[in-house]
Amino acid sequence: MGLFGKFFDKKVCSICGEEIGLLGNRKLEDGNCCKNCASKLSPFFSERRHSTVDEIRQQLEYREANRKDVEAFNVTRTIDGSYSDILVDEDAGKFLIAKSKKWREENPDVIAFSQVTGCETSVKELKTEEKKKTEDGKYESYDPPVYSYDFDFYATIHVNSPYFDEITLKMNSDSVTSRGSQAYRDNNAKLAEVKELFTGAREAVRANIESEKAPKTVVRCPHCGGNTTPDAEGRCEWCGSPVFGK
Ligand SMILES: [Zn+2]
Repeated sequence: MGLFGKFFDKKVCSICGEEIGLLGNRKLEDGNCCKNCASKLSPFFSERRHSTVDEIRQQLEYREANRKDVEAFNVTRTIDGSYSDILVDEDAGKFLIAKSKKWREENPDVIAFSQVTGCETSVKELKTEEKKKTEDGKYESYDPPVYSYDFDFYATIHVNSPYFDEITLKMNSDSVTSRGSQAYRDNNAKLAEVKELFTGAREAVRANIESEKAPKTVVRCPHCGGNTTPDAEGRCEWCGSPVFGK
């Protein structure tokens, strides 16, 4: 067959079975994937080349099921970002990242706050020296040197999901050129809001789980004889002995 024979060999998508056109192949660990199937994967997923056909199939099943979560999603709070916004359904305890106003058509991953394992924010500074043009068309430094600044505001959300583990968002939509500006303060406040949303919500979820584990009924402690509402570990609130179990 030779080199060209191999090159023009028709490939078939291991997921949907469609024939893959020239340059349309998205390589998998143990097979091939067409452009169309690859476009349905999560936008936060980056491990395609190291994924097996089975793993991609599983993810596409999850992505299909996600459409129902998108339909049920009720936006109660929005934090605008640069290229995408954070939309929150506070009653359901879920959020998603919307890339446009038509986000329902994008099938964005609906993520529960209980999946969030952390959130970090940072301000990145880009410092550029301004130069002046001399008569012979060259550029030289001012004396003393003059710099211009550009600040970008980032938030990274760590997520416990089988398909991705972090989401990084640029939060400022306009360029911020001075540390003392109102825009700098506004964007810094926005980072604090994002951090509080993701760390605060996570703590609330954890507190909820703890209180659900703890029995609400009052029982008599077999150790001290007091009437007690045992804590999350099932210990007597008076003597600290385990009320249940041993
Ligand atoms: Zn396909």
